[in-house]
Amino acid sequence: MPDRLVLLGSKGGPALRPGGPWPSSSLLQIGGRSIAVDCGLGVTRGLVDAGTSLKSLDLIFITHLHSDHVLELGPLIHTAWTAGLATPVGVFGPPGTGHYWRRFCQAMEFDIEIRIVDEGRPDIRDLVSIGEFGEGQVVAQGGLTVSALRVEHPPVTDCFALRFEHGAKSVVFSADTAFYPPLADFARGADILVHEAMLEEGIERLVARTGNGARLREHLLASHSFAEEAGSIASDAGVKRLVLNHLIPADDSLIGEADWTAAVRKTWNGDLTIARDGLVVGLSSAKAAAGEETA
Ligand SMILES: [Zn+2]
Ligand SMILES: [Zn+2]
Repeated sequence: MPDRLVLLGSKGGPALRPGGPWPSSSLLQIGGRSIAVDCGLGVTRGLVDAGTSLKSLDLIFITHLHSDHVLELGPLIHTAWTAGLATPVGVFGPPGTGHYWRRFCQAMEFDIEIRIVDEGRPDIRDLVSIGEFGEGQVVAQGGLTVSALRVEHPPVTDCFALRFEHGAKSVVFSADTAFYPPLADFARGADILVHEAMLEEGIERLVARTGNGARLREHLLASHSFAEEAGSIASDAGVKRLVLNHLIPADDSLIGEADWTAAVRKTWNGDLTIARDGLVVGLSSAKAAAGEETA
């Protein structure tokens, strides 16, 4: 299995629009492990379309409990279970992740109990272990290490950037965050930094077409980063590739890849990928691999 990153859902926020991209989720395959990072709506479909077997679902990380990052966590595990999952799944998320999972199992109790009896399945509640984490090292197993950094995403306090390392490879996810300079140290020298991004000229149009305009603008400016800011974190960190993800706006017909590129080029000269659902970013070498798009 080649090491790779697949951007399954690339838009910021929970809204869906016809033909548009899905909320946040990614697949990271590194050192023989398949890791889902965030479980926004569409993660299950995305993992299947990326060619993974749900039965071999193994590790899941949640950066924070906003719905566009966690809404499909339970349905993903449940769907894997009905597909034949019989091995342990480790779920790592901020405080509250265990509460979500227990309540999901309660909500699905009828179906879970009936499938255990009717289909002879193992108890899904015994297969899943939840590890709630704070800042620092989260996982060190079989050569894989994962560490977390609390980022700036008010009013959410438990929102964590994640750094995955295996051998000489490293991939960092910013999670949702306003411009946060300590992230540069945390992402130092990574092969890939996946950073969230907004485009200034798109925000006003987004705010205008959404019911809750003024409040939305206030939240976006306090809690998210502009593409230029993502670029300056990548430059300070000296990463090998910047992937702009969790795009806001993601589905404005007047905004295309060239606009994102123009914004981020003010602060970042290195290899660049603008996320799109299903896009594969190779991790086998620093340079472009098959299926990868470079801008
Ligand atoms: Zn989000
Ligand atoms: Zn968020």
